[in-house]
Amino acid sequence: MPTYSYIAEDPEKGCPSCRRGFDLRRPMSRPALAHCPLCRQPVKKLVSTFNTPVITRPLSVTDAKKAGFTILEKRCDGSYERL
Ligand SMILES: [Zn+2]
Repeated sequence: MPTYSYIAEDPEKGCPSCRRGFDLRRPMSRPALAHCPLCRQPVKKLVSTFNTPVITRPLSVTDAKKAGFTILEKRCDGSYERL
C-alpha cells in the first residue's frame, strides 16, 4: 500500500499534525485525502515516497525564520529584500 504525505494548505490553521505534515497509508483505489482527518482543514498531497521515512515537508518561510534563518528574496533590480 503506498504511503502518501499530506500537509495543511494553510499551516496557520492546521492542527499540530497537518501543520508539520503527516503520512498516511491509503489504498490506491481511494480518492486523495482532501481534509485533515483530525482538524478538517484542507490538506494537499506531497510527492509520495514508498516505504521511506523521509521528511518531505517543504521548508516554509515561517519555519525558516523560526529556525533562525534570514530569508532574502531577490528583486528585479538586483537588490535583496529581507522578508
Ligand atoms: Zn489537522
